[in-house]
Amino acid sequence: MSRCDRQGAKGPTGWADGSQGGAPATDSTGFRYAFALVQRLELIDAHVHADGLSDADLDTLARFGVGRVVVCAHDGALEPGAEATAKAWLTQFEQLLTVQAPRLKQAGLSPLFALGVHPAHAPWHGLDEILHKLPAFLSDPTVVGIGAVGLKRADERERYVLARELELAAELRLPVWVSAPPLDPERGLRQVAATLRELAFPAERVLVGQVTPGMVPLLLACGFSLALEPSAQRLSVPEIVRLVRRHGPNRFVLTSHAGDGSADLLAVPSVVAHLRDAGLSPAVIRRVARDNALRLAGREEPLARRARAG
Ligand SMILES: [Zn+2]
Repeated sequence: MSRCDRQGAKGPTGWADGSQGGAPATDSTGFRYAFALVQRLELIDAHVHADGLSDADLDTLARFGVGRVVVCAHDGALEPGAEATAKAWLTQFEQLLTVQAPRLKQAGLSPLFALGVHPAHAPWHGLDEILHKLPAFLSDPTVVGIGAVGLKRADERERYVLARELELAAELRLPVWVSAPPLDPERGLRQVAATLRELAFPAERVLVGQVTPGMVPLLLACGFSLALEPSAQRLSVPEIVRLVRRHGPNRFVLTSHAGDGSADLLAVPSVVAHLRDAGLSPAVIRRVARDNALRLAGREEPLARRARAG
């Protein structure tokens, strides 16, 4: 595997300007600071699974300052043990747009979607039907990318499906949400990175999720954006704070994966609070908790509008 060019990997820098706030970091949860911050900043959680969240969960997210969420099609797409059919995948896409979108809006959240078939769960029969119908779903104004995709076994079939979806993403100029496989994340991500490079897919349109600390230098060197999400197996909150402090905010996006298993519903406001407590500046926090996700989703706001919004 060829090495990625070293780019954008800043060494240790002073991203904490220490000039903001001035209040002592005495609140153990940090939520006091989160509330202070979100009064001025709409947070974006760039990877959730709405169909795993209750109405109360959605209400809580909105009350803790999350204004927009990116809902990804999930790996299984189906009831446990059920067959991964084209019909099931297409039904999931339909339900995300027609059932989950109104639920999210009702809770005060603006929904965005990343839709696609995870190659590990692509049906043997019916893949062409899904790929034929997927562009119509992707044309919905709330759909901002293809995802979540990735490789689990990384066999020939998975690599074929991934390549077909990456070709579609390139054609439509859409970003892709990439997830690491649960059992062997580093091997899986290396293989996805190799496929992305083989296809010359633009690195700036890739958000890689479920990363481990050991993968960060390689993924940054490849030019990808990285989803930082606290998880018992992968990244702790202090590690996330250290990564932002060390590498700067430009390539990181905060996500929770809420709605999937034991993922922390309030991961994004919680990390924001800890970044604030650690002395990271509001400008840095704004990048990782909002602006980078908007840029990836092609929803960057004009400066004038942002200025008016205060
Ligand atoms: Zn997911």
